[in-house]
Amino acid sequence: MAANGARLLLRNVSVRYGALTALDSVSLEVQAGEAIALVGPSGAGKTTLLKLFNGAVRPSTGEVSVDGRILAALSPAELQQVRADTGFIYQDLNLIPNLRVIQNIVTGRFGRRSLFGSAVDVLLPSRSTARAVYRVLEQVGIEEKLYLRTDMLSGGQQQRVAIARALYQQPRALLCDEPVASVDPLRARAVLALLKKLSEDNGLTLCVSLHHLELAKEFFPRLVAVRNGRILFDKKPDAITDQEYTEIYRLTHAAENNNGEPENTHQ
Ligand code: ADP
Repeated sequence: MAANGARLLLRNVSVRYGALTALDSVSLEVQAGEAIALVGPSGAGKTTLLKLFNGAVRPSTGEVSVDGRILAALSPAELQQVRADTGFIYQDLNLIPNLRVIQNIVTGRFGRRSLFGSAVDVLLPSRSTARAVYRVLEQVGIEEKLYLRTDMLSGGQQQRVAIARALYQQPRALLCDEPVASVDPLRARAVLALLKKLSEDNGLTLCVSLHHLELAKEFFPRLVAVRNGRILFDKKPDAITDQEYTEIYRLTHAAENNNGEPENTHQ
């Protein structure tokens, strides 16, 4: 399918939270339809970087643009459009547990519709809405769960609901924050394969943050390693040197052995 993806760009972006510098003069370009993995230890700045692209985090300095439109220069309505174009899959999924699957997925289009229309669709989904949600659920392989309460599903199925909700939004980019954190290796591979396939089938740009370097190498043609708020390298997997590999491997595993505590020292 022809790429329908968004082009994402950071130019000399720094993000400061008070005295802490989460990102330090980062420049990065992701082409329309490209798939990249952001790798690096906990606290490196990966989530902050992803959130810049949907405007959830604003840069302290530097420029963020999507398809050449600088986010800081957009009106609130234009920014909402950019948000609607970028589907964000949160690490903690952000689903409403006591709603049915269909209702959670319908909330994905809130950014594209009036509040009234969206609310009606959540409370009383029409047949055409139900058909559209069913088709999205088919893409993630759990269409039979359409009317179940979300908290009746397994963790893996709930993750698919969150992916389906992002897809239902009809995004041009998928931004996924640690989709395989605390997931067994088999399920991790299935989720990454699904995200890759969905992005390719729909022509979407895909940015995934991962602290599993091996999985990133296996699934992504481009790896951007982030450390202490800076880009350590930005390469194809087979161009990564042993030294770079060992450095990132050591940091990510040190963070895991430290119960996921950030190794961040960049105050
Ligand atoms: P990663 O996704 O690689 O774990 P994050 O982008 O979440 O990294 O965090 C980068 C740094 O910024 C960490 O030190 C984190 O504690 C800090 N940080 C993230 N979000 C906030 C926030 N809202 N307020 C203050 N500090 C934050």
